[in-house]
Amino acid sequence: MAFEGLADRLQNTIQKIRGKGKINEADVKEMMREVRLALLEADVNFKVVKEFVKKVSERAVGQEVMKSLTPGQQVIKVVKEELTELMGGEQSKIAVSNRPPTVIMMVGLQGAGKTTTTGKLANLLRKKYNRNPMLVAADIYRPAAIQQLETLGKQLNMPVFSLGDQVSPVEIAKQAIAKAKEDHNDYVLIDTAGRLHVDEALMDELKQIKELSNPDEIFLVVDAMTGQDAVNVSKSFNELLGLTGVVLTKLDGDTRGGAALSIRSVTDTPIKFVGLGEKLDALESFHPERMASRILGMGDVLTLIEKAQANVDEEKAKEMQQKMRTASLTFDDFLEQLTQVRSMGPLDELLKMMPGANKIKGLNNLQVDEKQISHIEAIIKSMTKDEKIHPETINASRRKRIAKGSGTTVPEVNRLLKQFEDMKKMMKQMTASSPKGKKKGGFK
Ligand code: GDP
Repeated sequence: MAFEGLADRLQNTIQKIRGKGKINEADVKEMMREVRLALLEADVNFKVVKEFVKKVSERAVGQEVMKSLTPGQQVIKVVKEELTELMGGEQSKIAVSNRPPTVIMMVGLQGAGKTTTTGKLANLLRKKYNRNPMLVAADIYRPAAIQQLETLGKQLNMPVFSLGDQVSPVEIAKQAIAKAKEDHNDYVLIDTAGRLHVDEALMDELKQIKELSNPDEIFLVVDAMTGQDAVNVSKSFNELLGLTGVVLTKLDGDTRGGAALSIRSVTDTPIKFVGLGEKLDALESFHPERMASRILGMGDVLTLIEKAQANVDEEKAKEMQQKMRTASLTFDDFLEQLTQVRSMGPLDELLKMMPGANKIKGLNNLQVDEKQISHIEAIIKSMTKDEKIHPETINASRRKRIAKGSGTTVPEVNRLLKQFEDMKKMMKQMTASSPKGKKKGGFK
């Protein structure tokens, strides 16, 4: 996962200052030295680091913090706010033209993930905003690009406009927009050609497409794994073409995160979306504040909640809450929860959004074994209705039967029963302890 090293270092640093009742300049200086190193190590542009440290230091030794009752927390708040600001402050929205179709030009170097992102963005526009996009195959140079987009269109069941590779991209864009008007497609996503490097011929062509199609958005797709190169590419494209946003792909990989933290201040272009995988639903809006929270170990609870809301029936959630409160959970409920959670995305990614999750030992290297989850499902499905409600009745011979029926082993059945019991015990404890005692670390 991206930002791991940075998150670790920053969190260790703020841990030292968190509970302090008094803070002097030397404390701030010491902390800032560590923050600076952490950012540089994460491959953040050095000018950006310098500016960031200066801003935080000024605010941290200023009255704002010194006069506060909780200076430690206050410094962390300053770091969080400045980190958010660094990544672009408020989340920026996607344009909607009042004279549809809204035209989005997708640009980027080869291999950055441009074609894939075009498909992902169309998918997101439909799913989240209820839009009806058309994809346009205007990359006539990369041999497989048109076909790749057509395949994506088929997967998404969405129209793809193509005129093969013998018509100029400018003409393709022109005809595509006319066709979208006719067919009432409210978004047109133009997948333009990439090159290995920024070159003049490419830029000329992109400028022509821009002039003719008068796009509402020009999104540059860059690969987060390329670090400062991504920042430089963004700078060149912005100077030559004028971007409205950047889509940072491959943030699911092992990137140190420098690009995400530098792009906005170096290029003055906001990151609008981030790519988190190869699948078509692996694109998310970029929320600077949430990302800052994640980096500082405060979790990304909002994204988690959004994911849950998109997948969970509210009535059922309430019912589940009640059951948890009274610890009367059955295996049926457990299975339902499991299914819902799985539909939200890969489990290890979800776990990482929880506050403090990266401080839990072992979680960093956690690979949630999807096979194991299907075994759990199979085991639960092999229980009788009564067994699911009263697991305490599952004796040795029943365990054998369940193992056989689910194609698993008795030790696996034992383990699940034990885990379920432990979970119920934990729920009882959680509901018994006062919420006051649980509250720590978070602030708004
Ligand atoms: P293009 O040349 O810029 O059009 O690049 P493609 O769309 O063909 O993507 C290049 C490779 O990057 C493909 O294998 C994609 O599946 C992969 N890719 C794109 N976005 C992401 C992402 O967010 N995460 C990961 N892991 N892979 C991605």
